Amino acid sequence: MPAPMTELRPCPFGVLVTRMFGELEAKRSIFDLPERRFFLGDAERDLSVSFHGHTAATPLGPAAGPQSQMAQNLVLSWLGGCRIHELKTVQIDDELVIPRPCIDMQTVGYNVEWSQELKLEQSLEEYVKGSMLIELLVASGELELAPDFERTLFDMSVGYGLEGIQSERVQAFVRGMLDCTEVVDRLRGEIPPAFAHLAGIDFTTRLSDTLTLSTFHGCPADEIERIVHFLLHENRLNCIIKLNPMLLGPARTRELLHDTLGYDDVRVPDSAFEKDTSWERMSGFVERLGEQARALELGLGVKFTNTLVVENHRDFFPADEREMYLSGPPLHVLAMNLVRAFRAEFGDRYPISFSAGIDRKNFADAVAIGLVPVTVCSDLLKPGGYARAHGYFEELTRRMDARGARCVDDFIVSAYGVGAAALARLDLPTDEHAACERALASEAPLADAVSAGTLARWVSEAALANTTTYVEAATRDPRYRRDSHTRVPRKIGSELELFDCITCDKCVPVCPNDANFSLAVALGEISIVKAHPGPEGWTIRVEGALAVDKPRQYANFADFCNDCGNCDVFCPEDGGPYLVKPRFFGTRDDWSAQAHLDGFFVARDRIEGRIDGATYGLVRGSPAVFTGNGFRVSLVEDDPTGTLDGEALGEVDLTVFEILRRIHDAVLGDATSYPALASAQRE
Ligand code: SF4
Ligand code: SF4
Repeated sequence: MPAPMTELRPCPFGVLVTRMFGELEAKRSIFDLPERRFFLGDAERDLSVSFHGHTAATPLGPAAGPQSQMAQNLVLSWLGGCRIHELKTVQIDDELVIPRPCIDMQTVGYNVEWSQELKLEQSLEEYVKGSMLIELLVASGELELAPDFERTLFDMSVGYGLEGIQSERVQAFVRGMLDCTEVVDRLRGEIPPAFAHLAGIDFTTRLSDTLTLSTFHGCPADEIERIVHFLLHENRLNCIIKLNPMLLGPARTRELLHDTLGYDDVRVPDSAFEKDTSWERMSGFVERLGEQARALELGLGVKFTNTLVVENHRDFFPADEREMYLSGPPLHVLAMNLVRAFRAEFGDRYPISFSAGIDRKNFADAVAIGLVPVTVCSDLLKPGGYARAHGYFEELTRRMDARGARCVDDFIVSAYGVGAAALARLDLPTDEHAACERALASEAPLADAVSAGTLARWVSEAALANTTTYVEAATRDPRYRRDSHTRVPRKIGSELELFDCITCDKCVPVCPNDANFSLAVALGEISIVKAHPGPEGWTIRVEGALAVDKPRQYANFADFCNDCGNCDVFCPEDGGPYLVKPRFFGTRDDWSAQAHLDGFFVARDRIEGRIDGATYGLVRGSPAVFTGNGFRVSLVEDDPTGTLDGEALGEVDLTVFEILRRIHDAVLGDATSYPALASAQRE
């Protein structure tokens, strides 16, 4: 029987607050993201965009996925420069069993996960916690943020059917997002006394009034229309409809995927197209819903794109998963072709949110064609994790500078040199046209010289022209082809062990939940010592030694680990850091409940551990008390074999005593580690 699934367990708010500020002070990092990788904006450039009438300081966001699931993930996305957070999709069926592993980033990116793993009520609380943590950080003045760079939006993502969305629990979630005063007030009371001076800030209580609808692959068009109708009319939400790549139709999808991009191994089942919304039906409901939204003074847009359903042709996921979802580089080309097709029909009348293979090189292009938000998931699961977003902004600012653009609108007009041609299409009076031309040639922001109405039309024309230019270039670009993505992350052939590894540090940032961490375990060999009780006293046998040579050891905080498998993909050694390295639980109850997993539970004066399925305990002191199956002994820590006393039915493995002692010292030695904080919180 497979082991029960590991459940995510959110961290108490007070622990997160203490960790965030404590770590920043002690290590100049937050949730393991180094300060030098924060993107805090700059006074020279305005990267802000409008989304459903709200302003966000940048168009970048985590897509509804692993990076927007837990509170700390939202803070990490924000520190990377994201300002429109598409929150992980919630739905009525919140007791899902997701197969493990569930994310395969070996090549282009596949997954079998699709929805929030937390309960609806927990999700709401995590989103509120994330927002409050960000606001606490801003209010603390600890970050040197560029002016207005704190402007952040949260966008709900809700799935999957009308009945579920109308259910009382999902509706309670939506109401909670629209007004989370109650949760804010409760969490405000959990702010630790050390940060009491920040507790009075005016936290956002309308967390979101926008929603991106996620529907199942194969959801009928009329169901989508009914859901959005309900969301507009009943919930009064600005809506984005996430559309499926199947809209391209089987011929064009396969032509792009196989003939153009060379992914011959990827098979899209016919059933995926048969069940899905056709272009014609999508076109119909977008127009009808668009009209309703305008009448209600709400926003309506679309999102390209959901993942692509493909047959499970690899051996990464469990074999009984017949289908999996493709993302990453090939999806980028499919989604961009859909953007072009959509704009060919609708022009720039409907805003487009985007997610598909966004990375450092193409983020600026997505901005240049006017997509808002530009959301990312797969790329932030690669080595560097959230820090990769920093590179997106380096590249965007480089390209803006090359065009003399100081804001997003100016960049859209100038990015591909289409500014003059787009202007010509506006058919302006001669003097206004000339003023625009002068503005285009100057370094000054276009908004200084061009009226808002004209500029909006100009930006819109340029975005449409850029779309054609970019989509053609991306479709031809070899970087999206299969032969550019065949190399899997390197494995070096060694097996991970409890201690020591090549300490490449990859497993920490690739975890979207910040579950992996490093700690300093005392160096030096651990002798393998076995003590046997006998009538004459103890017989001591030394059977070798375990090495602890590396100043940094790697560990896993089980509460944040959902066994997604991503750290295993990128670890150069075999075994999986989340499976082999010491695993810590935030509470004793969880440690007891997860009896199928090895791991540790730490309190101030003691540690309990399961190693190879056997349970041990160590109460620190003089003498210390070491217990296990069939024994209870006392010993002085500096001289365990010389001071051993107590009862044992058989052999006592003193190696375990030393492992527990060192791990306990290491965890408590880092006051900002999650297990240490969780322990402090309880005591
Ligand atoms: S520790 Fe590894 S397996 Fe666990 S959630 Fe993080 S990346 Fe996934
Ligand atoms: S566990 Fe693997 S990924 Fe993590 S530091 Fe060690 S070798 Fe690198």
